Amino acid sequence: MKLYVIGIGPAGEEQMTLRAVRALNKCDCVAGYNLYLDLIENLIAGKERIQTGMMKEVDRCIAARDAALNGKTVAVISSGDAGVYGMAGLMFEVCEDYPQIEIEVISGITAACSGGAVLGSPLTCDFAVISLSDLLTPWDVIEKRVKSAAQGDFCMVLYNPASKKRIDHLKRVCDMILEFQSPETICGIVRNIGREGESSKLITLEKLRDTQVDMLTTVFIGNSRTKIISGKMVTPRGYRGI
Ligand code: SAH
Repeated sequence: MKLYVIGIGPAGEEQMTLRAVRALNKCDCVAGYNLYLDLIENLIAGKERIQTGMMKEVDRCIAARDAALNGKTVAVISSGDAGVYGMAGLMFEVCEDYPQIEIEVISGITAACSGGAVLGSPLTCDFAVISLSDLLTPWDVIEKRVKSAAQGDFCMVLYNPASKKRIDHLKRVCDMILEFQSPETICGIVRNIGREGESSKLITLEKLRDTQVDMLTTVFIGNSRTKIISGKMVTPRGYRGI
């Protein structure tokens, strides 16, 4: 029995790997959040769909597992990469007692990479990826990770920077980073990467503090060496004499 967990990249078909497209072709049933299934509409026409709302991730994985147990070849879809705040880990947990199901994870372009490319090259060297959602991670743990990354002068990528209920998380995080980094630190915001209406902006850390973002946005914080070159956010690789 085969179950694929497929990362479709930030926006569907154009930014999917060939391996992801081929795996999807082999499946007769797909499970995923409606928005993501809509992004790959052309590739899943005629396939059975397991659709549930955003907050029903566990139910969706259980439904996908049951479809696999019934002999279907199932694809569980995540946006970006399925292993980065995606469904892959959860799928392994849900299938732990079902060794007859073989899970194959197919990686996709995560928002850090696709958004980084929109901005320039902000993640050239060491970087930390942190989600600001405290639904599954306590806020004090998030705080500790942000402060450690800032203290270590890591570039940072912030996923889930805000939602309707968490409007001030980005401001609180910027204040923590400002304890260690200059207010002039170069930051970038990318919204709707690869999708219709994609937008991006470069901004200083001080200004980022007072910027409203939503959950369709990924935020990039530079390190002490990050600069703007030809209008793009670039963290230098470090070669001398350039
Ligand atoms: N598995 C996904 C991440 C899911 S968490 C991945 O690897 O990219 C959801 C968060 O990812 C969003 O709140 C946002 O911060 C980021 N994100 C995912 N897709 C995005 C896109 N197309 N544009 C901007 N941000 C995106």
